[in-house]
Amino acid sequence: MAEKYPNVYYPIPAKVIDIIDETPTIKTYKLKLDEPFTFRAGQFVQLTVPGYGEAPFTPSSRPGTTDTIEITILEAGRLTSILHKETKVGDVLGIRGPFGKGYPLDKFKGHEVLIIGGGVGLAPLRSCLYALFDNIDDYKRISIKYGARTPKDHVFRYQYEEWEKMPKTDLALTVDNPYPGWSGTVGVVTVLLDNLDVNIED
Ligand SMILES: Cc1cc2nc3c(=O)[nH]c(=O)nc-3n(C[C@H](O)[C@H](O)[C@H](O)COP(=O)(O)OP(=O)(O)OC[C@H]3O[C@@H](n4cnc5c(N)ncnc54)[C@H](O)[C@@H]3O)c2cc1C
Repeated sequence: MAEKYPNVYYPIPAKVIDIIDETPTIKTYKLKLDEPFTFRAGQFVQLTVPGYGEAPFTPSSRPGTTDTIEITILEAGRLTSILHKETKVGDVLGIRGPFGKGYPLDKFKGHEVLIIGGGVGLAPLRSCLYALFDNIDDYKRISIKYGARTPKDHVFRYQYEEWEKMPKTDLALTVDNPYPGWSGTVGVVTVLLDNLDVNIED
C-alpha cells in the first residue's frame, strides 16, 4: 500500500487526543497519527504547529506504538508557548521524521544501565525506559536518577510506582532545594551519584 506521506519533508497530520499537565511548565501531548509512524528510542521528530512553525522534540512514548505518539514539552519560547496556551484536544498538528540514530540499546545489553535526567530531560529518557522495560531480561539492572527544582516539577510522577515495581529497576529522586513536605534527597541530580552503587565498569 502506498504511503500517503511519502517523505520526511511532509508532516503527517497528528490530532491532539490528550494533554497531560505534568508540571506548571511542562505538558505531554498525546497525538493520533494519520498513518503508522515508527521511531527508535532517542530519535527526534519535528512537530509542526500549523501557521506558526515547527520545532524538534524527542518522543516520550513507547517506541513500538505506531498509531499514537506522546511528546512532553517545556514552555520555552514562541512555539512552545503557542502549544501550551492555545493548542487544545482536537487540534491537528504535524509530525515529520524520525531523525537521528537513537540510543544504542544493543550496547546496553547484558549491562547495568544508569539513566540520569533533570527536569524535562526525563521526557526523551522515558521512551528509552519503555524500550528497556519491554526487554528487561536483556539488561542486568536499570537504575534511574532524576532531579527537578521542586516535587511539583517531577514529570511522570503517576508512573514512578509502576517503574519501581519493574524487576531489576530502582528509582531515586531529588529536588534542588528543601521544599515543604519533601523528606527525600535535596540537591541537584548529581548528588544522587554520590555513593553510587551502580557498577560503572559494567
Ligand atoms: C533533538 C532535540 C530534541 C528536543 N526534545 C525536546 C523535548 O522532548 N521536550 C522539550 O521540551 N524540548 C525539547 N527540545 C527543545 C525544543 O526544541 C525547544 O525548546 C524548542 O525548539 C523551543 O522553541 P520555541 O519556539 O518555543 O522557543 P524559541 O522562541 O525559539 O526560544 C528559544 C530559546 O530562547 C529563549 N527565549 C525565547 N523568548 C525569550 C525572551 N523573550 N526572553 C528571553 N529568552 C527567550 C527561550 O527560553 C528558549 O531557551 C529538543 C531540542 C532538540 C534539538
